[in-house]
Amino acid sequence: MFKRIFNWFKRKLGFGAVVSIPKVPTTEPTIEVAAPTNPLGSVATSKVILGNVQGIIAGEYKMIAEAVELANKVLSSQEFKDEVLKTRFTSTEGMTNADIFKKMTEQAIVNVTMFYGSYMQNFVWKTQGYEQGDGVVYANRYFITKAHEMASLIIHEVSHQKGFHHVHAGEYTSVPYRMNEIFETVSEQIGINESV
Ligand SMILES: [Zn+2]
Repeated sequence: MFKRIFNWFKRKLGFGAVVSIPKVPTTEPTIEVAAPTNPLGSVATSKVILGNVQGIIAGEYKMIAEAVELANKVLSSQEFKDEVLKTRFTSTEGMTNADIFKKMTEQAIVNVTMFYGSYMQNFVWKTQGYEQGDGVVYANRYFITKAHEMASLIIHEVSHQKGFHHVHAGEYTSVPYRMNEIFETVSEQIGINESV
């Protein structure tokens, strides 16, 4: 949704297609760290593999790595399968619940770029994050400060990358928003502590 708004602005402002989403200036120092290829157990069994991490400040790499681990725990659980199979989705791209489950548990590489949101993103649009089709999850550190929040964001944005959409930010029955809801339900069922 925000991608669409940005694209609209880009068109209005006459920028070419090569212009990326405006980078939000941050006053905080950032360091870039090359991610280890597989920080979190077996690649073969991971649903989500952490790729490049950019724009992070102290402590965020650990938070992101923990989030990928949480996302994998949830996506690999029987509880996740059960929830996906029984949930009513809209904007399914013609897929059955079984198709959605299969798609969501196919292995995906997730690159994460942290940013600090603009006034509009933080206070008006409440943009926790977004993706723009380049395999990167952009995460707004104004909202995303814990692994649990990051894991939920990753699952939402990964569903976009797998082709699911919401027609507007309030389509809570769409696959991406249902993924946030299912993440909460399943993490409670399998005992993931929300404070992490
Ligand atoms: Zn979304």
